[in-house]
Amino acid sequence: MQMLLKGDYFNGRFSHPDGLKDLSGAQEKILKKCPGELTLTLWEAGVYYDHIESVIDSAQKGFDTWRKLSFEQRVAYLKKYQEVVRARKDDIALALALEVGKPLWEAKTEAAALDSKVSVTITDSLERIKQETIKDVMPKIDGHVVYKPLGPCFVIGPFNFPCHLANGQILSALLAGNSIIFKPSEKTIYSAQLMIECFHQAGFPEGVINFINGTGQTAGKITADKRIRGVFFTGSRGVGLRILENTYKDLGKLVALELGGKNSTIIHHDTNVSHALPELLRACFLTSGQRCTSTSMILVHRKIEQEFISQFKALTERIKVGHPTKSADPFMGPLIDEHAEKLYFDFCNFGKQEGAEEIVSPRKLDVGFEGHYVSPSIHYAKNPNLKGQFIQEEIFGPNCFFVPYDDIEEAIKIANCTEYGLAASVFTRDTEIYKLCLRDIDAGLLNLNRSTVGATARMPFGGVKNSGNHRPAAVSMIDHCVSTVASLETLDDNSSKISDIVGLKE
Ligand code: NAD
Repeated sequence: MQMLLKGDYFNGRFSHPDGLKDLSGAQEKILKKCPGELTLTLWEAGVYYDHIESVIDSAQKGFDTWRKLSFEQRVAYLKKYQEVVRARKDDIALALALEVGKPLWEAKTEAAALDSKVSVTITDSLERIKQETIKDVMPKIDGHVVYKPLGPCFVIGPFNFPCHLANGQILSALLAGNSIIFKPSEKTIYSAQLMIECFHQAGFPEGVINFINGTGQTAGKITADKRIRGVFFTGSRGVGLRILENTYKDLGKLVALELGGKNSTIIHHDTNVSHALPELLRACFLTSGQRCTSTSMILVHRKIEQEFISQFKALTERIKVGHPTKSADPFMGPLIDEHAEKLYFDFCNFGKQEGAEEIVSPRKLDVGFEGHYVSPSIHYAKNPNLKGQFIQEEIFGPNCFFVPYDDIEEAIKIANCTEYGLAASVFTRDTEIYKLCLRDIDAGLLNLNRSTVGATARMPFGGVKNSGNHRPAAVSMIDHCVSTVASLETLDDNSSKISDIVGLKE
């Protein structure tokens, strides 16, 4: 697959100041290699800071057109996009597999979600921002609650789901009447460009959709611009904090942050082990552990810890790691880059330094291609250092660690010890235990007998504590794409009398 970058997209077209091959005028260049085959250079991108003003101008113009369209008209554009993205899903899946390193079968599920998300946004989200009327809210007065778009919105994406996450935010923003600028991760520009090409093919009016390649510096400049009324960010906690620092003085700017996690699962003694094992294996290691909802900490009841851990270890050792498109049915591919690989080994070392035992050690793997291939690893800690780096920080690699517990209160306390609060799950047949977890675990998602990964688009998706700022995505994303106007309406224009005013001089 030849990955031809077309440049930034604004005023309804892709713009590449230096022509398609020559990057001589670029202020910065980004070279992308396939993480599963480092001898394969996928693309080289130019970063043009000079474009930023033009991109924001374009989004402002696009907003002026788009906000005047009815819901029906906007829905019609979204449905055209749905047709195009459905037709191009195989190209998108292949690009995702090569850029991110996720196996092709998994990349296909991300590409398919772009299409299904259009339907969910129209059927489930739109209802939340339709005008509401309260008859006789006061005597002879009706009340209306009207939801207005914010203005040009800026969507900033992470590398691990380059299309799916931004797609959800973009569709909600558009349906609500906003124009958007999308900056994907600098690690996954081509997959994101394919998605933007689909919006272009669907014929959206000029300036409604805008796309910019760039770094954190690009994102920082756009985020700070007064004309940007919404910032929708998915990424790490550290960058989320920087965005808040960059925007807090502009109170009219809505900032929605979807950040990292340090997710735990409780395996109670009455768990059906043969159900819990495959759920947990996927939760810990799919996408090589590079999911915000990946399970990291497994609290296992002491009565079953030996049996459970030994079966989980045996399954982990069967995991096939391979090239995202050239190996036969790998469970997982490589990590995204050299930095991620180094962090993975460093974190496993912190684990050892902080007293955790290595049950399955992390290894650099040779799968027949030069790439960032590592094996999944498992740690065990009887008395974990709850303040240590290993337990507190997100690893974003294929590692999990077991901690045994005797009573459920103790397990909940350990689950709550981190600064994050994205996802958690509990495996048990006892619904009272589930209710206790639902009440006491700090998480935005909490599942019973289902792992922490695989959320639905039809419910809110977001975390508490340092996992977000209480603006969940998925079905409720659209709530953050509007401002609310309360309007009192009366057709009786003869009910106010000067004689009714108390305190007027004769
Ligand atoms: P990252 O924070 O390194 O980068 C995300 C985006 O932020 C990139 O596009 C990057 O260019 C941009 N960026 C960098 N500096 C910036 C700045 N100063 N201002 C604005 N934007 C800036 O994250 P990543 O490594 O791409 O993704 C992994 C992280 O994302 C993990 O922490 C993971 O948990 C999180 N994540 C969260 C969710 C969720 O829904 N909660 C989903 C996926 C990933």
